[in-house]
Amino acid sequence: MRTFYTILALILAASTALAQNSTPLVERVLTQEEQAALTPNDVLTALKQGNKRFLAGTVTHRDHSAQVRKAANGQFPKAIILSCVDSRIPVEDVFDRGIGDIFVARVAGNFENTDILGSMEFATRVSGAKLILVMGHSDCGAVKAAIDGVELGNITEMLENIKPAIDSLASYKGDKTSANSEFVRLVTERNIQISMDDIRKRSPIIKEMERQGDVAIAGAVYDMSTGAIEFLD
Ligand SMILES: [Zn+2]
Repeated sequence: MRTFYTILALILAASTALAQNSTPLVERVLTQEEQAALTPNDVLTALKQGNKRFLAGTVTHRDHSAQVRKAANGQFPKAIILSCVDSRIPVEDVFDRGIGDIFVARVAGNFENTDILGSMEFATRVSGAKLILVMGHSDCGAVKAAIDGVELGNITEMLENIKPAIDSLASYKGDKTSANSEFVRLVTERNIQISMDDIRKRSPIIKEMERQGDVAIAGAVYDMSTGAIEFLD
């Protein structure tokens, strides 16, 4: 009987050790040297892998209070992500990122403007981030409202920023209302592409950094029903 308990204890100890080994590593707050060694492609790959962990439920365990203290002296994030304000997209979480990892700019409909461009220039030129990611999402209320011509307070003027994407699809043959999910998807993707082009057009600083290979500009769509992020070509 004693032998049985000894074996049971050994099995329990081994399985505990295995469980500890399979726990994802605690990511450290990025240092300036680590940030400098990254390429834009490294950062894109890291974001894609982070979303895979988010989907698989194997996100990194982080000691946030320790990271707050570590990050207090400065920040050297990998990327700046322009996202919609939608409450169903916790941007750091969907990429499995922690404190000091990414800059996040948010506005309903994820379009660029002067203030967002200034924030992007700060993130890249001043703070060394290697990637600008414009991330839209499925079923976006701002995109749908722009399609339907909603008018209300300051929302009216805000939605004007999404109109170029709708206008560029003038030759679309189907139903051009928010009830047509195909059209909503097309406008969402076009809106992201226009934002990416406008970043290059309106920011000579970022355009030059991209030309030098110091920064990449990418687009993606977050799928609200699955949590998956599809990167656009
Ligand atoms: Zn949205």
